[in-house]
Amino acid sequence: MPTITPQPTIPPFPAAAAPPPSPLPSLGQPPPPAPSIFGLDALFHNPVFAGGIGLAGLGAAAAFGRRALIAGAGLLRRQLLVNIEISKRDPSYNWVLAWLAQPRDNRGFLAQRLTRLRSLSVSTTTKSLNPRLGDEGSSQTHADFRVQPGFGRHIVRHRPGVYIAVNREKAGTATTATGEPHETLTLTLLWAHRHVLEEVFTQAHALAQSFQQGKTVVYTARKMEWAVLGKPRLKRPLGSVILDRGVKEKLVADVKEFLAAQKWYTDRGVPYRRGYLLYGPPGTGKTSFIQALAGELDYSVAMINLSEVGMTDDLLAQLLTQLPEKSILLLEDVDAALVNRRQRDPDGYSGRTVTASGLLNALDGLAAGEDRIAFLTTNHIDRLDPALIRPGRVDMMVRIGEATRYQAAEMWDRYYGDIDEDHSGRERFLNRLEELGLFGGDSQDSNVPRRHTSTAAIQGLFQFNKGDMEGAINMAEGLIPRTFEP
Ligand code: ADP
Repeated sequence: MPTITPQPTIPPFPAAAAPPPSPLPSLGQPPPPAPSIFGLDALFHNPVFAGGIGLAGLGAAAAFGRRALIAGAGLLRRQLLVNIEISKRDPSYNWVLAWLAQPRDNRGFLAQRLTRLRSLSVSTTTKSLNPRLGDEGSSQTHADFRVQPGFGRHIVRHRPGVYIAVNREKAGTATTATGEPHETLTLTLLWAHRHVLEEVFTQAHALAQSFQQGKTVVYTARKMEWAVLGKPRLKRPLGSVILDRGVKEKLVADVKEFLAAQKWYTDRGVPYRRGYLLYGPPGTGKTSFIQALAGELDYSVAMINLSEVGMTDDLLAQLLTQLPEKSILLLEDVDAALVNRRQRDPDGYSGRTVTASGLLNALDGLAAGEDRIAFLTTNHIDRLDPALIRPGRVDMMVRIGEATRYQAAEMWDRYYGDIDEDHSGRERFLNRLEELGLFGGDSQDSNVPRRHTSTAAIQGLFQFNKGDMEGAINMAEGLIPRTFEP
């Protein structure tokens, strides 16, 4: 009898009794093999490869997360923050820098602001003390140091709970007209604090104004644009400039009348400008008067010396079209604009490139709209192009001459008025000048040679003898102009 040994059967399905597959691969038990596609299962079974895939997946997720975060942050920033960019070309640039660099005060918020600035820079302006603009006869230089936020990012606390992010950076390779690198300052605030910006600018402007309170700002041409010359100077009182009887009063009244007459000019379509020509020898107070007038009107002075090397017709025209607001234009040494550009000085110097027609064109193009007051000065009226002296270019010509008896007396009173109560010292001084023939045609004595002295020389004598009337009288002879024989 054949024995039948049961054949092992392969169940079509896993045996019903088999345990259900574990959702998580249990340790020690390899996961069931995946269906093989082109042998990839072998690859996936490779722990190194599988680990790499895992890491790559994680990396991709992290990169995606990072990008999402950046995009989210950008979106958030755009929604929640407000940026304001200030270019170096804007006047508020320096105001805001100065505002950020307020001096320390351990209790105030300003101090807290400064202490937050981790990087500071110093801006130094030096100037030669200019005797022509009231820095009496000094040849020293003056340095002014200002601390400013340095380049980079800073966080400043404006007041509790209000923070401003400041980013000061150089704008690529761009440069300003003066050749300095262009810069921008960006202030970033929470959108909810945007109203603070107005406060920041108002405070910064007020601070800039306070620097200039009671002062006269003098601008000068630096390359292609106007730049402030040194620190604003204390206003020069009009009373400190002593011109001949009635001259100052006449000039001041004319300028004030012009400033009050804007409607007259606009109604008639006449450019709203007025030109004055002050001529006469040097050291008679022309520049001092213009500076004092600017102080009186609360104007600044925008000064160009036409004999300056590098001044050209184009540059002059450009500067005159962008005059600073509320400023008196002072064109010094206008005789430097000779009729013929090729003409050379006797010494062969030919650096002058402002022509007479260039000067006329620049004056004619002086921007209308805002009031424009131009003062031209020269020591050589005979050298001027007659076309310059025409209404609209020069409306009033005044000779500011050598010291007269009236001026010498007025100057004496300013220096010694308090110690010379009965004016006897003044009479002796004036008589001495008379004896020396220093009032030109004023003297009666025909034996004394007629000569002149300048108000600058008299001022020098009084400065030297401060508080010493007798010293001034004894040294009066020093006022006789010296002549040098070559
Ligand atoms: P100018 O422009 O006529 O050459 P400045 O105004 O530059 O003369 O004067 C040179 C110096 O002499 C200044 O320090 C100024 O204070 C003094 N000075 C000259 N003239 C006068 C004046 N008429 N009144 C007061 N100061 C004068």
